[in-house]
Amino acid sequence: MAANVMEIYGTKVFNEHVMRERLPSATYKSLKATLERGQPLDIEVANVVASVMKRWAMEQGATHYTHWFQPLTGITSEKHDSFLSPVGDGTAIMEFSGKELVRGEPDASSFPSGGLRATCEARGYTAWDPTSYAFVKDDVLCIPTAFCSYTGEALDKKTPLLRSMSALSTQACRVLKLFGKDVDYVNTTLGAEQEFFLVKKEDYDAREDLVLTGRTLFGSSSAKGQELEEHYFGTLRPAVSAFMKELDEELWKLGIPLRTKHNEVAPCQHEFAPIFEPTNVAIDHNLLTMEMMKKIAPHHGLVCLLHEKPFEGVNGSGKHNNWSMSAPKMNLLDPGDTPMENLQFLTFLAAVIKGVDEYQDLLRTTTATAGNEHRLGANEAPPAIISVYVGDELAAVIDAIDTGSEYTGPVKMKMDLGVDVLPKFSKDSTDRNRTSPFAFTGNKFEFRMPGSSQNLADINTVLNTVVAKELKDFADELEKAEDFEPAVIALVKRVFHDHRRIIFNGDGYAHAWEEEAEKRGLLNLKSAPEALPYMASKKNIALMEEFGVLTKTELESRCEVSLEQYSKLLHIEAVTMLEIARKRIVPAINAFMTDTAAAITAKQAACPGISCRAETKLLQEMSLYSDGISDGLEALNAAVEEAEAQSSALAIAQAYHDKVKAAMEALRSASDKAEAICGDEYWPLPSYSSMLYYTM
Ligand code: ADP
Ligand code: MG
Repeated sequence: MAANVMEIYGTKVFNEHVMRERLPSATYKSLKATLERGQPLDIEVANVVASVMKRWAMEQGATHYTHWFQPLTGITSEKHDSFLSPVGDGTAIMEFSGKELVRGEPDASSFPSGGLRATCEARGYTAWDPTSYAFVKDDVLCIPTAFCSYTGEALDKKTPLLRSMSALSTQACRVLKLFGKDVDYVNTTLGAEQEFFLVKKEDYDAREDLVLTGRTLFGSSSAKGQELEEHYFGTLRPAVSAFMKELDEELWKLGIPLRTKHNEVAPCQHEFAPIFEPTNVAIDHNLLTMEMMKKIAPHHGLVCLLHEKPFEGVNGSGKHNNWSMSAPKMNLLDPGDTPMENLQFLTFLAAVIKGVDEYQDLLRTTTATAGNEHRLGANEAPPAIISVYVGDELAAVIDAIDTGSEYTGPVKMKMDLGVDVLPKFSKDSTDRNRTSPFAFTGNKFEFRMPGSSQNLADINTVLNTVVAKELKDFADELEKAEDFEPAVIALVKRVFHDHRRIIFNGDGYAHAWEEEAEKRGLLNLKSAPEALPYMASKKNIALMEEFGVLTKTELESRCEVSLEQYSKLLHIEAVTMLEIARKRIVPAINAFMTDTAAAITAKQAACPGISCRAETKLLQEMSLYSDGISDGLEALNAAVEEAEAQSSALAIAQAYHDKVKAAMEALRSASDKAEAICGDEYWPLPSYSSMLYYTM
């Protein structure tokens, strides 16, 4: 197997190795310059690359190519064009030019743009992101691209991400220069831990709620939930194991460095973690991973659920965003061994802490989706309050710096940072707190709020830009200083002092934290409609415009798109519930009640005066729930109508949150109670216990 992995790894990717081998050396050199220093790609060079790429792709069986991009829906889009070019004598040749490689023009009229672009002038173009390798999938050469309008507005998730990476790089290089390090480029790195559920395909197919919305909208809890925690890191079911093997193989071919896989806490929940990569590549790879997971699961009789909350009563799924900054041979969030390295580390740490504190609202908006709303603040995922966990050791260092007192941790550190060094932070001592939304884990930060189905681009765009902003302010201040060392120590000290409130090492799930956070003045934006408007606040627009990442108009349109998506998803859920209840649950309950009533009549006819207490009680109870369902249906219908009648995207989203969600819960509650007392052969939907505890 080992040899096999090495043989298949990256075989479907037009990677560095293939380029070096196949491109003429001058072409290779100019492409490398583009890759490493972001220089524009010359059309002559593009022509050569395109022709070599086409030949390579055809050897992999490709007949078509596509500009693969990420519209605001978050999922990837592709439109396939064949290489075919008729030559006029009835024959054809296979063609692919540099122009076609670097630029495409999808008909973009139906992608959401939040009013940015009238549909009649849907002129957008896609541009190759050469830092993310092209690859062959399903006989199609896929070229990772960014998607912009002709007037330069970003219409996708990748464009702002690339802009934010470049902004961070510029500012981080300035700061590193002050520390005597000359580097051209600082990359942000990302390792995305992906959680998901696998259910039997036959169960999935029998539930319209799973098919249409990705989560169960009805379902009485299983007698056994996750309380025994036996599933965590348990043995994989054979079908699951076979799924993972096939997936490993397909992802390795695509050069996706998937490394860890294990069972998660909830029954039939699992997790994958790849080795980290530059952020834009890691995101492309995460999107491909999700796509392949969905595609491959049915080969094994399974369906992969990426929704944040497929089942009530057991944990939901997140996607931990492990993030750091790296220069060649240097992880900027690694404390290092020498006092100067420590000081550099503390400076970058201070930038992150200050940034997260000042832009907690903006960071929160990036995780505000309908699906994720079920997780945040519930007793399984981080709270909706953003805080930073640094671990006890680092907290003691920060406290000591802040108060100017002696640090008395495991390794002594003098406050002038002159001789002693920071203790080495072992992962074990820093990674115990699982309740923190933003945790320092030894040499990186782990943002745990993102939902499992999310595209991580928005999150990293914000993170990068926020840190770029702080680094810029630091560099502006420090470049002016006469004596660098005392100036940077003073700066670090001041930042730790001013932003102490965002650091919290305690239990994020505890109610006491909510009260404490409020006292500290931290935001607690519980719902998506409450959080999303912050996206386009004055302060956040100023930030994004300062670094040319997004404009005011773009931010406003993105806020609008997010609100609309929230409402649309809830609308689909509500309508699906109405349908399932009317067409399947009500008839089932009626059949059950008819049979129960008939049983009473039959018993009494056969044996006058016989006790029918049990049947009568059951019938009465079921009739009560049936009334509840009927009332619930009416109320939900009315709530949806009321929400749809609101006049702004925000008001609609608020109504969905306040009214529709509550009505959905009431309807579900009545139905779940009915399910609990209804005979199995009547109930039209596979039960929670059959879905969560399958054997195969
Ligand atoms: P855990 O969080 O479960 O303890 P790991 O230590 O394996 O697990 O890390 C989780 C993820 O963090 C992996 O995807 C890993 O590649 C990623 N990671 C590790 N170092 C960095 C880094 N410097 N930058 C970004 N991600 C990183
Ligand atoms: Mg983790």
